[in-house]
Amino acid sequence: MSNENKTIHEFELNLICDFFSTMERQGPGSPEVTLKALSFIDNLTEKSLIADIGCGTGGQTMVLARHAPGQITGLDFLPGFIHLFNRNARQLGLQDRVKGIVGSMDNLPFQAEELDLIWSEGAIYNIGFERGLNEWCKYLKPGGYIAVSESSWFTDERPAEINDFWMAAYTEIDTIPNQIAKIHKAGYLPVATFILPSTCWTEHYFAPAVTAREVLLNKHVGNKTAEELVAMSRHEEVLYSKYKEYYGYTFFIAKKIDL
Ligand code: SAH
Repeated sequence: MSNENKTIHEFELNLICDFFSTMERQGPGSPEVTLKALSFIDNLTEKSLIADIGCGTGGQTMVLARHAPGQITGLDFLPGFIHLFNRNARQLGLQDRVKGIVGSMDNLPFQAEELDLIWSEGAIYNIGFERGLNEWCKYLKPGGYIAVSESSWFTDERPAEINDFWMAAYTEIDTIPNQIAKIHKAGYLPVATFILPSTCWTEHYFAPAVTAREVLLNKHVGNKTAEELVAMSRHEEVLYSKYKEYYGYTFFIAKKIDL
């Protein structure tokens, strides 16, 4: 299909998919951090149902699947990511326990109180932290767990440049104590909270992005949208190295309150 036949939106989504598909993960994180978050969860058996929301190509899902029992459904709204997700699951021989489906996080295809664990790394911001926590809670069994990573402010005040960047990108970024309060208000007991080490950004996110940027520019020579995407990715990296003491990702593990 030529590009003229596609809407701009579709075309941009395809570029985003192209860019991130070459990376094992589509957000900051690492296998070690996924396992650390998993270590706080103690309710899983072979019968457990787990959802990984905004799973991308499944870097973290496959780590989870190799270390936790149960059936895992990965959900993402980009079909290209789900295609790669299912291919990754097959290549690792996990296809009987791990299935990727296309869907939207604001309309999840699960039954009330059927899930034992909701996982979501670097993705809940797409629906908003508070809204995601509130809406997803109903799908969890009482006593079920949620494990999400989300961007946080590490200080109460910060330089204008980084504040302005985040206010344009995601106004719901907040300080960790405020985020813990939101978790509690949404009906969960906070179980553990830890900040992702900066290597989750530098080694596992920005380093592979260098190659992904080159591949994208070579594939779409002269394409303005591709150039903008690459410029954004570079800008994100520059800002992080300049301001990493002010913000980063935090992992929150919490349990649905069961009275
Ligand atoms: N969890 C993965 C991907 C994080 S990037 C990782 O840590 O590597 C955020 C993901 O959310 C992307 O894969 C994007 O396609 C997906 N996403 C964005 N909006 C969504 C929505 N409304 N519903 C489902 N997935 C969504």
